[in-house]
Amino acid sequence: MRQSKLFTKTRKEAPADEVSKNAELLIRGGFVHKEMSGVYSYLPLGLRVFKKIENIIREEMNKVGGQEVLMSSMQPKENWEKTGRWTGMDDLYKVADSSGREVALGPTHEEIVVPILKNYVSSHKDFPVVVYQIQNKFRMELRAKSGMLRGREFIMKDMYSFHTGQEDFEKFYEKMKEVYKTVFTRAGIGHLTYLTFASGGTFSKYSHEFQTITPAGEDTIYLDEENGVALNKEVLNDEVLGQLNLSKEKLVEYKAIEVGNIFDLKTKYSAPFDLSFTDDKGEKHVVLMGCYGIGLSRLMGTVVEALADDKGIIWPESIAPFAVHLLMLGEDEAVLKEAEKVYESLNKAGVEVLFDDRAGVSAGEKFSDADLLGMPLRAVVSARSLKDLSSGGIEIKKRTEEKGKIVSLDELLKIYVR
Ligand code: ATP
Ligand code: MG
Repeated sequence: MRQSKLFTKTRKEAPADEVSKNAELLIRGGFVHKEMSGVYSYLPLGLRVFKKIENIIREEMNKVGGQEVLMSSMQPKENWEKTGRWTGMDDLYKVADSSGREVALGPTHEEIVVPILKNYVSSHKDFPVVVYQIQNKFRMELRAKSGMLRGREFIMKDMYSFHTGQEDFEKFYEKMKEVYKTVFTRAGIGHLTYLTFASGGTFSKYSHEFQTITPAGEDTIYLDEENGVALNKEVLNDEVLGQLNLSKEKLVEYKAIEVGNIFDLKTKYSAPFDLSFTDDKGEKHVVLMGCYGIGLSRLMGTVVEALADDKGIIWPESIAPFAVHLLMLGEDEAVLKEAEKVYESLNKAGVEVLFDDRAGVSAGEKFSDADLLGMPLRAVVSARSLKDLSSGGIEIKKRTEEKGKIVSLDELLKIYVR
């Protein structure tokens, strides 16, 4: 894509009311547009990142047999009354139409997915079932000051699993721990993300969170670095330490962001809707459930928080909007010709390139934009790089490295085409 055609522009300043690093950088880079506190629109560069995160998650959920659906955001009040959450969930958005009829704007989808399933599954032979979606959620977050980390409208992958027995549930739950690790590793924050024990509420002893260590985190976790296991501060007491066989002296405190979590729901939502099955003896039982969430928008913000440096964003290759940021510096004929040739060749080879072909923009400005936007590799064609034409003519530098090197077009292509 030609940067001269990209309708978004980078900005020197973020809106004055943005205090978080992730929102500041994403807004300055033109990845997202802030509509109001906790509400963002995705612009072309941001949507490319989002789609890549979405694809990673979709692939991994499909691998464990997840069936993708897209459930409604407007949800019947009666369903929420049935589970007690119409009045029991503080952050629920309730919307009334002009006739006074109220609906909920979905903050999560147990109240929708369970009644749907009830229409289709009733025999033990119908199980297990795993359903997921990737969808906008609405929550009345009163402290929406963390940019993409805490939206009032945000995007979540929510998956729900349905089982006829505890053993089957537990097997799946354990598998999901591995799947989540894979997702965060593929998204480039695996080395900073830890399985974290958290309180499970009234229904089970623990839930598990996936916490990414970064100073911007709203949560405090205690990490046992040897075992790579952490505890949320909320659950830290001697009894829990004992149960998990952890010693207090070994734990190190960190700020962290909860990028995902998994829950044992038991019959909390299946019972109110009487979602049940008959076993092979014809006896009826209530279905067991698990749920598994990942905030995609939060994950995007987390990657920015955790990996950025003082110059801007650093995207991991797997979710970068483009693999290469090609910069054309100066406008003399030779530079123009060579830069166009490199752009065309990379495109032909299927490499995703953002081509800074803007005229009348200084080299300094192009370099600082490249740092802000954070593509994994910068490739520069300039009068200077062309002086080195015998050794290739293109100066490449990784976003994470200080020094570049001159390569030929073939060498550049070889990085991507194997
Ligand atoms: P938190 O404690 O941070 O409010 P939560 O426990 O309410 O999170 P869940 O209801 O379990 O979160 O939602 C599943 C996932 O959705 C979370 O792990 C997180 O990644 C994401 N998420 C939750 N709330 C938000 C939000 N307001 N903005 C962005 N992502 C969110
Ligand atoms: Mg919450």
